[in-house]
Amino acid sequence: MNAAVVLETRAGGCLCGAVRFEADLVSRNFGACHCAMCRRWTGSALLGMTFPLGNVRWSGEDHIATRQSSPWAMRAWCRDCGTNLYFRVTADSAYAGDIELPIGILDDASGLTMTNEIYIDHKPDSFAYAGAGRKQMTRQDCIEKFSLLGTA
Ligand SMILES: [Zn+2]
Ligand SMILES: [Zn+2]
Repeated sequence: MNAAVVLETRAGGCLCGAVRFEADLVSRNFGACHCAMCRRWTGSALLGMTFPLGNVRWSGEDHIATRQSSPWAMRAWCRDCGTNLYFRVTADSAYAGDIELPIGILDDASGLTMTNEIYIDHKPDSFAYAGAGRKQMTRQDCIEKFSLLGTA
């Protein structure tokens, strides 16, 4: 993602408070990812908002644990309380360095709009988000758009 106009800054952090952050929003839109990795990681779906790398400032970084979860990306969490903190694209691509923050770790997650769902064909049939008009992409759509061979 290229540098974009900052709309507002929101704070957030993990369950135990060891990790805190300030995030500069360039959009109020977020998406749901239903891929098997996000499903396991979150227990449901990743409701993630995208930020360019420099737009999130952390405190308590020594409490952050990370894992390269695929050739494409790494995932991070608080090593003290287990709160999932971010997904970061590590593969050399137009998205390199971008991070996805779960919107649930923002102190104030109001006023946001879910605009897309990806890996929609991998969503468990037991639940669905309310509302209509979201862009939906299948796993194959994602592979073609993001060139994610061999992931999720
Ligand atoms: Zn914590
Ligand atoms: Zn996913």
